[in-house]
Amino acid sequence: MDILLTHGYCLADDPREQKIMKPYPPLGILYVSAYLKQQGFYVDVLDTTFSSFDAQKAYILEKMPPVIGLYANLMTKPRIVEIMKWIRNEPSLQGTRILVGGPDVTHNLEGYLGHGADAAVVGEGEETAAALLAAWRSNDTGWCSLPGIAWMKDGKVVRNPAREKVRNLDVLPYPDRESVDMQAYLNTWKHHHGHSAMSVSTQRGCPYTCKWCSTAVYGQSYRRRSPAHVADELAYLSERFAPDTFWFVDDVFTVSYRWLASLAEELSSRRLKVKFECITRADRMNEEVLGILKAMGCFRIWIGAESGSQDVIDAMDRRVDVLHVRDMIRAARRHGIEAGTFIMLGYPGETEADIRETVRHLKSSLPDQFTITVAYPIRGTSMHRELDGKVLASGDWATTTDRDLDFIRTYQRKYYDFAVRHVVNEVEWEKARKQGHALRPYAIKKRLASGAARLGMWYYKTYGK
Ligand code: SF4
Repeated sequence: MDILLTHGYCLADDPREQKIMKPYPPLGILYVSAYLKQQGFYVDVLDTTFSSFDAQKAYILEKMPPVIGLYANLMTKPRIVEIMKWIRNEPSLQGTRILVGGPDVTHNLEGYLGHGADAAVVGEGEETAAALLAAWRSNDTGWCSLPGIAWMKDGKVVRNPAREKVRNLDVLPYPDRESVDMQAYLNTWKHHHGHSAMSVSTQRGCPYTCKWCSTAVYGQSYRRRSPAHVADELAYLSERFAPDTFWFVDDVFTVSYRWLASLAEELSSRRLKVKFECITRADRMNEEVLGILKAMGCFRIWIGAESGSQDVIDAMDRRVDVLHVRDMIRAARRHGIEAGTFIMLGYPGETEADIRETVRHLKSSLPDQFTITVAYPIRGTSMHRELDGKVLASGDWATTTDRDLDFIRTYQRKYYDFAVRHVVNEVEWEKARKQGHALRPYAIKKRLASGAARLGMWYYKTYGK
């Protein structure tokens, strides 16, 4: 074996996801695995989603890989650091090299390298990992000058020049799904939701500049697989795994109308209709696009808005008109496509009046689903940079994540927990009211919960300084 690729996520340690139960395999690792295998490396993948840290350690000790490739994201960082520390303290693994990559790495190089990684991949993993493995395998001391990596010299981080991004994504093989237990993923979905789902990526990078969003791996770019390549993969996956639905993980699925129309033709020429959900932006949607999506098999579309206040949207540099977002949520539903949307509360500068606008926005558009997060400044984003001096220390780097980063907000952090409850219950009540169920017990409960949350907001606004 040349490398063992693994990650730090275990469903059993994630109580929140245990309520949701919509797991997907780690596509990033599977892309790297497929590419390395194509280049002639012997690769093993250890997917811990349905396993445990103890089982992971036992597997590593059994296999004694010369290199362990660890994928780190915002959520799994503490576990990745724990794995690295364990490897460094395990006498039988002193000959094992650690390569770390993933979205959390780019802006935390000192932390990862200082906690045991021999090298970090900055940006896209496939070509950099292949070049580094080849150098390590042949004991080439020149590995430390390879583009796309960072390493440590005399306690200081050396960040080499970036590697050029893969221009033609069609040259990359499909993700190595055969190396994980795909059936376990499909069964989990089926058991909890009555249908199975499989993730597919058609795009890398995003051309937009929303200030809170991290583009640490693929950068501010737009690269896309050809429609024929994507249609071939969908046909293959349908034949091989027969999932009931697909989830396109792309940042803005409808960013190119021409690409979308072409994918629709490719699917139609293969007589392939796939049920799928995707994410996009309202400014990259219109009635025609919705018609194409519906004909292709889209059953749910997630439309980013983040706020119902145009002032907050503009402060985020989201470049979208909130009225258009509302129109597109309603239009999607008219086309028979479920509409979901994302909301973020507590963005710097947001006031209670902006939160009221968000409630109005949701009550007026009534998306089928929405998620709410309280803003936090991810390292490397414009939001983090602009909060210079206002970001509050989050504690020990190794055991906390960027999600724990707080900043000097308009109101105290606790205020936003109540604000989230208020928004959710208020919109649920409005839905019940529109359906003529305003006097039903569950609707009254929502109304009361909304009012109680308003009291909490008032308390923390008044006394929470
Ligand atoms: S939030 Fe979406 S549209 Fe904005 S930069 Fe991030 S991926 Fe792109």
